[in-house]
Amino acid sequence: KPEFAFIGRSNVGKSSLVNMLTNNKNLAKTSGKPGKTQLINHFLIDDNWYMVDLPGYGFAKVSKSIKSTWEKMISDYLKNRDNLVAVAVLVDSRLDPQKIDIEFITWCGNNEIPFFLIFTKSDKQGKSKTQSNVQKFLQESIEIFGEEPQYFITSAQTGEGKEELIAFIENEVQDYYDTHK
Ligand code: GDP
Repeated sequence: KPEFAFIGRSNVGKSSLVNMLTNNKNLAKTSGKPGKTQLINHFLIDDNWYMVDLPGYGFAKVSKSIKSTWEKMISDYLKNRDNLVAVAVLVDSRLDPQKIDIEFITWCGNNEIPFFLIFTKSDKQGKSKTQSNVQKFLQESIEIFGEEPQYFITSAQTGEGKEELIAFIENEVQDYYDTHK
């Protein structure tokens, strides 16, 4: 079954977004190996696709070795998934472009891992502030990739962007099944 992986800096609003997307959905957490700390969690949605919850990056306080273990785990996971449709990269719309987010999408590009952007917490500041932060981020993306990445502006508070995002994912899931018959 097709998978979408969700990643972002800690506190970006990933849990809130995942809750928004899975509201009213038939959701099953698939169990991993017992006794092992689960860093990467899979949720089966509507018996149709997997939402994969990747650990947040950008913790300032963890040691270098923990950080590199995480990074290895995430990159091993992302590089070896035939059924990974795309990575949803969550970006806090309140902030100017963050180095770690830009580094991560650059890494995705270098490894030919498809991604799209989800700007979170759009309700937290005025529309024009959101727009200008989004545009700055898109501009930096265009400088790297030569084209604008797919993106969604969302708020878990107001539900902004929810329908568009779900429609996009369901469409991609359908394409996946069409090409994997
Ligand atoms: P995570 O660490 O990335 O999973 O982030 P959480 O989903 O736990 O959210 C971090 C904080 O931001 C919490 O206090 C949330 O209530 C808040 N938050 C998340 N999404 C939104 C949003 O769309 N709007 C507002 N106003 N607050 C949000």
